[in-house]
Amino acid sequence: MSRIVGIDLGTTNSLVAYVDEKTGLPRVIPDQEGRVLLPSVVSFTTEGVVVGEAAKRLLVRRPATTVYSVKRLMGRGYEDVKEELCYLPFKVAPCDGIVKIQIGDREVTPPEVSAIVLRSLKERAEAHFREPIEKAVITVPAYFNDSQRQATKDAGRIAGLDVVRIVNEPTAASLAYGLHRLKEGVIAVYDLGGGTFDISILRVKDGVFEVLATNGNTHLGGDDFDRAIVVWLLDDILSEHGVYLGRDTEAMQELRLAAEAAKVRLSAEDRTTLTIPFEEFTYRRAITRAELEGLIEKLVDATLGPCRMAIADAGVAPSDIDEVVLVGGSTRVPLLRRRVQELFAKTPHSQLNPDEVVALGAAVQAHILAGGITSMLLLDVTPLSLGIETLGGIVSVLIPRNTTIPTSAREMFTTSVDGQTIVDLHVVQGERELAKDCRSLARFELSGIDPMPAGMPKIEVTFLIDANGILQAQAKELRTGKATAIEVKPTYGLSETEVERMVEESFAYAEADVEARLLIETRNEADTVITHVERALRQGGELVPVEEREAIREALEELRRARAGDDRGRIRDTTAALNRATEHLADVMMDAALKAALGSKRAAEIMESD
Ligand code: ADP
Ligand code: MG
Repeated sequence: MSRIVGIDLGTTNSLVAYVDEKTGLPRVIPDQEGRVLLPSVVSFTTEGVVVGEAAKRLLVRRPATTVYSVKRLMGRGYEDVKEELCYLPFKVAPCDGIVKIQIGDREVTPPEVSAIVLRSLKERAEAHFREPIEKAVITVPAYFNDSQRQATKDAGRIAGLDVVRIVNEPTAASLAYGLHRLKEGVIAVYDLGGGTFDISILRVKDGVFEVLATNGNTHLGGDDFDRAIVVWLLDDILSEHGVYLGRDTEAMQELRLAAEAAKVRLSAEDRTTLTIPFEEFTYRRAITRAELEGLIEKLVDATLGPCRMAIADAGVAPSDIDEVVLVGGSTRVPLLRRRVQELFAKTPHSQLNPDEVVALGAAVQAHILAGGITSMLLLDVTPLSLGIETLGGIVSVLIPRNTTIPTSAREMFTTSVDGQTIVDLHVVQGERELAKDCRSLARFELSGIDPMPAGMPKIEVTFLIDANGILQAQAKELRTGKATAIEVKPTYGLSETEVERMVEESFAYAEADVEARLLIETRNEADTVITHVERALRQGGELVPVEEREAIREALEELRRARAGDDRGRIRDTTAALNRATEHLADVMMDAALKAALGSKRAAEIMESD
């Protein structure tokens, strides 16, 4: 049995943990100096790469070559992150759908930077166990999409770790609290770290966890509290000393660190003093907890909306929630605890160190995978619906949002054109009715279909989502057995704002979407009827009187005109009228076809008997 460690790869801090064989309890692994948290900071110096506490100290002196908060950039595109780049003192540039960080004349990708953090944790564990460590479970925020998870796996690979499982942080936290021992219950996990916010509603029953719903905001955390304090300090320094430091990178880093330290102190004290020695003057300022609360209240309250949405998505009432778990360093803020307690009307669990909970849970999951615990199953959910674009740009959803994974779904499709031998499959993710409003995940092609009339081929599309949330799409034509498959690996991530926008828009546009969808469906129906009637006129027009043919042509023209417009009712009515006008022709043609079939059968019989 090879050892698997659990790693919390955090925006701010990262940790590694394992399960002690003797006690069966998870434990974090400290470094040589006894520190448990490894700041997720990497500095590129002329002497080499520095990571953790040492790199954090270089934030001030080497802001352009010291990278922090890289988790915000993992698996993302330039469009996703460009708004927050003004907060990052290092240079980030777009590159082939992802972003790269420019360090002097060198370029590094976010997974490469994360890999440096992971390698440091790997070495820490190797020093502890005095043996090579090659396997790890790594946690990610519940809201991470496919490409962000993929980027995390890539980071592991770069660090020389086989990432045996990617686990949602809130899921790991509930394991750390041992809540699987509950006979049955609903758990809310509230996780506010440095850069991300996650809320998950889990159900536990007979030792089995099921994630009922997840929600959150990957752009909200303790960093934002610090930023709010910094903005306040900049203002104060301007009025006290007449200097604006907002464009001085070094001063900004000093302010950031001082603000964070003051915030941490104010979780335990009512008032504290900030002292920052600048070159020209020393800045000194007292700040009270009440003042801090005034600055961060809006940010704290911004976490409550996603909580309510998650509760609603889970299909439970707030009173159904039996346990509330607090995760992340920022949950030490007293105002936040009060708000969470009010919202859920429960005293939250906070016995374990909130910075360590996720790593401890990752260790428990690692232990399960290594075979240490076999009686436990973990289930997660898909954050967004997954579907296929069909005729007219309508999305056919195969796996709805919040479906428990791993999962698979299957649906039958067909062709819309006679003799079609290739089908383009477009995999989309989102809550809107039309593919153009959703996020495009992948396109692939099923070719080599035998030419058949439209509607004859039976194309079975299968979606498989594995335990890591990675999607595999397959298409198979059942008559010919032609098949094709892809693993969906989007080139860059979907930003949290995009996810939120998609979810919000799905509510805001729900009505308009339904109307657009119905119009397209009605048009598709009209097109089918038009094609059939044209063919019928060509093949059997001679079988009916001239006046009847004329009446059909007129009805056909009427429908063509209606189809060009947006009046769905009119398209529907004229389609029905054309159908009625061709009823007789269809009957006559059917008769003729039957007679022909009988005739040829007779001919065949005659030939045989010859
Ligand atoms: P992440 O999961 O993003 O890596 P952590 O769970 O380690 O983050 O939390 C880091 C955040 O917690 C930082 O913003 C830090 O300032 C904040 N934090 C840590 N301790 C305290 C405290 N005592 N009071 C308030 N905030 C704290
Ligand atoms: Mg965390």
